Amino acid sequence: MLLNLEMLRIRFGAFSPVDEVTLGVDRGEILGIVGESGSGKSLTATAIMGLLPRIGGQVAAGSIRFDGAELVGMPERQLRRLRGGRIALITQNPMTSLDSMMRIGPQIDQAARLHLGLGRSAARARSLELMADLRIPDPASVYNLFPHQLSGGMKQRIVIAMALAGDPELLIADEPTTALDVTVQAQIVQILVDLVRQRGLGLILITHDMGVVAQACDRVAVMYCGRVVELAQVDALFQHPRHPYTQALIRCIPRRDMAPGTMTAIPGIVPTAMTQPRGCRFNPRCTRAADRCRVEIPELRVGAGGNGVACHLAEAA
Ligand code: SF4
Ligand code: MG
Repeated sequence: MLLNLEMLRIRFGAFSPVDEVTLGVDRGEILGIVGESGSGKSLTATAIMGLLPRIGGQVAAGSIRFDGAELVGMPERQLRRLRGGRIALITQNPMTSLDSMMRIGPQIDQAARLHLGLGRSAARARSLELMADLRIPDPASVYNLFPHQLSGGMKQRIVIAMALAGDPELLIADEPTTALDVTVQAQIVQILVDLVRQRGLGLILITHDMGVVAQACDRVAVMYCGRVVELAQVDALFQHPRHPYTQALIRCIPRRDMAPGTMTAIPGIVPTAMTQPRGCRFNPRCTRAADRCRVEIPELRVGAGGNGVACHLAEAA
C-alpha cells in the first residue's frame, strides 16, 4: 500500500470527530471516501497532509503510513517536503489554491521550482506540458492570464496542474468538482481518472456524490460521523451494499426513471462530534436499529479481501 491509515483518531479538545479510521490506497488506485458533510472526510485528508495543527486539531491515536514511513509525529520540516511534493491536495474551491493577483503560469512554475528544484525555463516548459496534459487549450496564452479570466472548470484544471507540478505519488482531491456544473464535473473527474491510469498515482477522491464514486473509484470507504462504516470494491458496494447507511446513500441517487420530486433523502441529520449518540452512531437514523445498536459501537471488521463493514446486523448475516 502507498498510504495506510490504521485506527486513526483525530482530536479537537475534548472531542474526537474522527475515530478508528482504517483505510488504504495503492499506486494506480482510486479510493473514494464518501459520506455526507460532517462525516470527517476532509479532516481525514487534513490529517494525511499533516495540517491538523493549523486548525487546532491533532492526531490522538493511530497511524498514517506513507510509502512505509510513519507520518504521525514526523517533524514539520520533513512533512513540509512531502506536502505539495510527494503528496498533493486539491480542494473544492480553486481560489484557495490560486493567487488572484498572479498570472496562471508562474503559479504552476513555483510548485515545480520549489519541489523539483527546476530553473526558470525548465519550470515554464514543465508547466506548459502539464497544461497540455490537462487538455487546456492554447497553454501558451493561458499561461499569461489571471485566474479571474478563466471559467471554474479551467481554474480547477490549473489547480490540478499545480498539484502535479511537484510530481506527486499520492493525490488527495477533496470535493474537487462540487462547485462545478454536471458536465464540467464529469470532465474533471475523467481527467483525474486518466492521470491515475497514465502515471500510476494513488488517488483519494473525497466526495458526497455517489455518481462520482461510480464514475471513478476502484474501492470505496463510506464514512459516517467520523467512522468508516463500510470498505468495499466499487462494484460490490453498488450491487450488495452491506451497511444500512450505504444502502440509504444508494437509494438517494437520483435515477432517470424517477418522477420529478420523488428523490429520497436519508431522514435525520449527521450528528456532530458533540452530539454523537451512544452505540452505533447511525442508530437514530437506522430503520433496523436494535437494542444492542444503542449501546455497543460496531467495529469495522476488514476481511482478507480488504472489504469490511461496521454493523452488528451485517456481521450476523
Ligand atoms: Fe443500524 Fe445497528 Fe447496523 Fe448501526 S449497527 S447500522 S444501528 S443495524
Ligand atoms: Mg468536506
